[in-house]
Amino acid sequence: MFYISTRGQTRPHTFTEAVEAGLATDGGLFLPEKLPDLSGKLAAWASLSYPELAAEFFQIFAPEIPAEEWQTMTTEAYSRFDSPDVAPLRKLSDKLYVLELWHGPTLAFKDFALQLLGLLYKRQVKLKGKKLAVLGATSGDTGSAAIHGCMGQDGIEIFILYPNGRVAPLQERQMACTGAANVHAIPMPGTFDDAQGLVKECFGDPAFVSAVNLSAVNSINIARVLAQCVYYIWAWLKLPEEARATVEFVVPTGNFGNVMAGWMAQQMGLPCSGFRVATNQNDILYRFFETGDYKQGEVAPSFAPSMDIQAASNFERYLYFMLGKDQNRVRELMLRLKKGDRVTLPKVASTFRASRMDDATIAQTIAQVWQDYQYVADPHTACAFTDMAADRVSVVLSTASPAKFPEVVQEATGSEPLHPSLELLKALPLETHPLPSNAEALKAFIREKVGA
Ligand SMILES: *Cc1c(COP(=O)(O)O)cnc(C)c1O
Repeated sequence: MFYISTRGQTRPHTFTEAVEAGLATDGGLFLPEKLPDLSGKLAAWASLSYPELAAEFFQIFAPEIPAEEWQTMTTEAYSRFDSPDVAPLRKLSDKLYVLELWHGPTLAFKDFALQLLGLLYKRQVKLKGKKLAVLGATSGDTGSAAIHGCMGQDGIEIFILYPNGRVAPLQERQMACTGAANVHAIPMPGTFDDAQGLVKECFGDPAFVSAVNLSAVNSINIARVLAQCVYYIWAWLKLPEEARATVEFVVPTGNFGNVMAGWMAQQMGLPCSGFRVATNQNDILYRFFETGDYKQGEVAPSFAPSMDIQAASNFERYLYFMLGKDQNRVRELMLRLKKGDRVTLPKVASTFRASRMDDATIAQTIAQVWQDYQYVADPHTACAFTDMAADRVSVVLSTASPAKFPEVVQEATGSEPLHPSLELLKALPLETHPLPSNAEALKAFIREKVGA
């Protein structure tokens, strides 16, 4: 199995190489050259535990890593989750289920990929005997999950940029209170998209990339998308048989990483009926799926900060498929988007629907879901609870624990959502390294810490 770039100007990579590189050198994103057909395996996978399922899945995508190593890594990664099911599927009604993706160390779904990615980095450092600098930008949850996947690991320095004052206080504490010397939490002026731009600038400098052995950790690493495919398969296998064919997955969306994984699982033969892309008021993806228009607006901070995004970085992967895998067209289109052009694609009959929710409705929805089902949804998950398809079963992907966003949730339900790991954090000192929004300053800081 090889991995190609959506923009077509890199040589084929193995899984390990694609994971290490993060972003392709032509600015594109890695994808499997060909999606395998998994439909014949589903029946046999129904009885596996979550780590076993993940190991089976990854053996197909990274055959160069021995099966026993996959077993060891997935077992270690998912043993840090506080639910025996890892991703428990809760039934709220005959037509409505919630897949809870927040039982990992940082209480959001990004732990699924980033716990595993930390172990893959560790494996690479060991094989190569070379120190690794891991760099990423976050609107909150990716950064903390990446940090918890890498903290304390020999041979890895991790640098996470985030928009100062725009991540939730508890998210910042998860990044900046680890006490680990290899963790660097860097608040910056501007938005998440600005921080992401700086990351891309660093990767655009090949001399720097090789000097510090730089690897990208964020929503664009292929390991992340693949790790997320697993829980769609898992949830589908846990549903009653009569519900499986009609199920619509409802996915709170920002960077299009989570829902992209679901769509890929469907392309690989998972027979679900479709997806709803649930956005907050930053609704570029909602507008795209409603009209075919893809035009970036300004980011407006919301109650669901991990979805405050207007440049959905994983969307390029979907475009690649929509443009018939024509890498030249992807490249052209991405250049036009970069210039701020509006891009319109023909509306295809697709398996996607879309919805959006403003802050006032998020608050009302948390209260309503509590009233209807005695279920506490965090503000990201709340965005999914609208416009349910009447004729099919819905599985809402719950992307964060309500305890990460206590103010909004308490206001709506009348009681403060608590989690013991967050209570511990509240007393620890905050260690951050603020930097100006400037690529040279960032590179100098990384060089210094890595000793390059
Ligand atoms: C990252 C995140 C999202 C958005 O996921 P994407 O893969 O970027 O679409 C939604 N909810 C929470 C809690 C998140 O951390």
